[in-house]
Amino acid sequence: MIYLDYSATTKPDNRVVKYFVKCCDKYFGNANSLYKIGRQSKSAIDRASRNICKILNLDNHDLIFTSGATEANNLAIKGVVESLPSNRKRIITSVFEHSSIVAPINFLQKKGYVIDLVHINKDGEIDLQHLRSLMSDDVALVSIGSVNSELGIRQPIGKIAAIAHQNNVLFHCDVTQSVGKEIIDFASPDLISFSAHKFYGIKGIGVLAKRKDVKLTSQIHGGHSTTIYRSGTPNTALILSLDRALRIIYRNHEKKYAKVQALNLLLQDRLAVLPNVLINSPKDALPHILNFSVLGHSSRQMVAELSRKEIYISNHSACASNTDKSLAVLVLTDDLKRAKSSLRISLSHQSKKSEIKHLIFEIKRITETR
Ligand code: PMP
Repeated sequence: MIYLDYSATTKPDNRVVKYFVKCCDKYFGNANSLYKIGRQSKSAIDRASRNICKILNLDNHDLIFTSGATEANNLAIKGVVESLPSNRKRIITSVFEHSSIVAPINFLQKKGYVIDLVHINKDGEIDLQHLRSLMSDDVALVSIGSVNSELGIRQPIGKIAAIAHQNNVLFHCDVTQSVGKEIIDFASPDLISFSAHKFYGIKGIGVLAKRKDVKLTSQIHGGHSTTIYRSGTPNTALILSLDRALRIIYRNHEKKYAKVQALNLLLQDRLAVLPNVLINSPKDALPHILNFSVLGHSSRQMVAELSRKEIYISNHSACASNTDKSLAVLVLTDDLKRAKSSLRISLSHQSKKSEIKHLIFEIKRITETR
């Protein structure tokens, strides 16, 4: 098997799985219980939370543990706007957002919120001048992700945060495709969301980190939990496993990043000699994601044919893989043929040169026989 879809999900690290199993046993006590084993679970969660904040340089944040980034994004968007005065009716976002941002925003639109899409430049970066011009007293929230999951386009989140803050507006940033892959200023947005399964953690645990002074309305009501923002018995073992996964992934970060960069260059070199291949990802995209089109070959067919050879890549982000074109590629290139034939390779420090060479060999074989 050749797996090149690490932005969809990753296989959990064995060390994380073993630690999770150990913690299920050791910390089975309910972290909300007052007796000793309950307090032990609570202390373990507090320790893990401090570690996570330290690794991501979050100085003054509450961590709200969720089932993943989808829930974290929903909580951030709905929870923030519900906490604000009713005259704040506008939400600013971009065309490159994940479905777990788009869907809650569309939900709010039906309830009367107005959506502003900020313009992008030719490389997909948001137009800061336009963002500035959209700012007004009735804006509730800016929600723009740090990295687009289909093309790897990075957004200048520090600059976006500065513009939002100058105008007294909150900035939520989906950093799901950044955590574990790069080190950015995770503390500059007011709220960030991410998910453990994107960095070799276990599925079913994510985080919404919010600055302590940001007001948020809970979306899941019930008993007390680790915070007042999301009820339910805290899943101590999953929370601890997320901390463990985060610590492991950022070990030797520069070396891992450089390896991915080199693999990305190799992939681009090999693609350059194939006919009818166009690279869609911009030059300064995150190296972990490379999007390209093989003109004349539909994305779906190519994914299916490669799958028959046990090579796993994706057409779009897994959450939108049922459509026949990539909206992100269409927006960036304004070319329907490219959008219908685009493929996303997502790389890991675990990827091998031989896997890339084999992928290229199979793409060549498919394009020559059809
Ligand atoms: N945001 C982005 C940018 C993602 O790539 C994903 C996963 N496809 C999500 C949110 C949703 O994450 P989860 O699977 O943890 O709900």
